[in-house]
Amino acid sequence: MRSSAPLLFELSKTGRRAADLPPMDVPELDGLLPEELVAKEPLPLPEMSEVELIRHYTRLSRRNFGVDNGSYPLGSCTMKYNPKINEQLPACFNKLHPLLDELDLLPVWELMHALGELLCELCGMDQFTHQPAAGAHGELTGLMLIKAYHDTRLDHERNEILVPDAAHGTNPASAALAGFKTIEVPSTADGDVDIEALKALVGPRTAGLMLTNPSTLGLFERNILEISNIVHDAGGLLYYDGANMNAIMGIARPGDMGFDVVHLNLHKTLSTPHGGGGPGAGSVGVKKELIPYLPAPVILKRHGGPALPDYNRPLSIGRVKAFYGNFSVLVKAYAYVLSLGGAGLKQASENAVLNANYVQHHLKGEFGLANDRVCMHECVLTPGPLLERGIHTTDIAKALIDRGFHPPTIYFPLIVPEAMMFEPTETETRENLDELIAAMLDIAEVSKTDPEALHRAPETTPIGRPDETRAARNPVVRFVAEPKE
Ligand SMILES: *Cc1c(COP(=O)(O)O)cnc(C)c1O
Repeated sequence: MRSSAPLLFELSKTGRRAADLPPMDVPELDGLLPEELVAKEPLPLPEMSEVELIRHYTRLSRRNFGVDNGSYPLGSCTMKYNPKINEQLPACFNKLHPLLDELDLLPVWELMHALGELLCELCGMDQFTHQPAAGAHGELTGLMLIKAYHDTRLDHERNEILVPDAAHGTNPASAALAGFKTIEVPSTADGDVDIEALKALVGPRTAGLMLTNPSTLGLFERNILEISNIVHDAGGLLYYDGANMNAIMGIARPGDMGFDVVHLNLHKTLSTPHGGGGPGAGSVGVKKELIPYLPAPVILKRHGGPALPDYNRPLSIGRVKAFYGNFSVLVKAYAYVLSLGGAGLKQASENAVLNANYVQHHLKGEFGLANDRVCMHECVLTPGPLLERGIHTTDIAKALIDRGFHPPTIYFPLIVPEAMMFEPTETETRENLDELIAAMLDIAEVSKTDPEALHRAPETTPIGRPDETRAARNPVVRFVAEPKE
């Protein structure tokens, strides 16, 4: 049953109030503000009673689907359950302000420094900055570091960044924003980087290569050492897109694979939800030779003293964010890493990989598989035989919504037609995985008997299938109030 969702403005009734303010006990002052800034008409704000207001937001929250409602296998986004206690911990710091005297912020520097050390250990890097606010922001920062590195060596010809065709769209976008030309590297039919093609593409213009391992096909790049040798021998550096770190924590390290710069999506892997609309953090780690270029300030401990921001960094690319980054996200990541410990992080990755393989194994009979290999923390399926029955990836995604699941990532990676990328994550139980598998198998069954039913999906949501082209091209994001009489 569809039901409409009135806006606060439509629910408004003149004179209703949710707040009861005491009468004003000071004289009203006129003429304090410049005339042109004073509103001539009362603002058309919604007027509601407290209970109506509460019901409105509760109604909306029930329509929201989140990890706290059910499985959310949105590939590449690592929508795992994040412990609630980690959400509470940043509040310990909420009396602090970034403009306080630096000596009053010693616990902040200590935490940022300690988290940096742990991430260095996890990734095989030498120094981290926590300034970038998201993964894509980390990519831009990392590429600026690579540019600064080549520029300092007067190696100005290096203006090309190699990006595999399986990459996340942010990779070529970040390269373009950092002023590089993107060169696409093809993948083999097996899902690895095409080594011969790579050899033909590197040269004196190569500034670096961006890669995520496991790739967005959910596959571990088996030739990573050969790839890093090829790029380094050509004079380029390697950038690791760490958005898929949830697959390899405590098992393999980007630094050991030959990467020079990494970003981690703390808001995927380390206890902040991705896409929750809140702040994120794309901490960037580098090998020794890139430390001089890191955004200033760098949080350092000198001679056993306390951790403090260091601004004396003549080669720094400068700041990439106001103040020091999204600190609350760093607190959550630090708490998460400490509470799981090395063994716990490793177990999390092992379970993430196990769960994805469990899903892949049980679905590959009825659906298509992009690459028939052991997958990492996510698997890429296609509708396979369902396509012959006129059922596309969109239909499957919408039908999953009716069965109580968030859909997988669809039509990505771009090199797999009709892709469905499932990332179940380590926090789903076996029963949850079985239910997801059962829902998918049910969809496969329905496609044989009543394919039209799948074209009608979703039938349980307030809105069925919007015109996605019009919604993207002509979004109506602003409510225009009717003038009040
Ligand atoms: C999520 C993701 C990014 C971008 O991260 P944001 O924090 O969303 O900017 C980059 N690469 C991959 C593979 C991702 O999954």
